[in-house]
Amino acid sequence: MSALLKQILRWLCPHRFSWPHSGIDGQDYQVCLLCGTAFEYDVSTMRRTGRLVLPHTRKMLRL
Ligand SMILES: [Zn+2]
Repeated sequence: MSALLKQILRWLCPHRFSWPHSGIDGQDYQVCLLCGTAFEYDVSTMRRTGRLVLPHTRKMLRL
């Protein structure tokens, strides 16, 4: 899938989020179950920060 198409899907997606996950660096994140986009999650406020977690970061988390 092209980067442009992914960007359009992310923009159109209504976003349904999974339970928050903890990253290896201590940063929590939530992944959209529909488009797979990961967003930073702040457990102290129990809200997403709105910042994207980059795919290469998620790949590192799985190791
Ligand atoms: Zn989404």
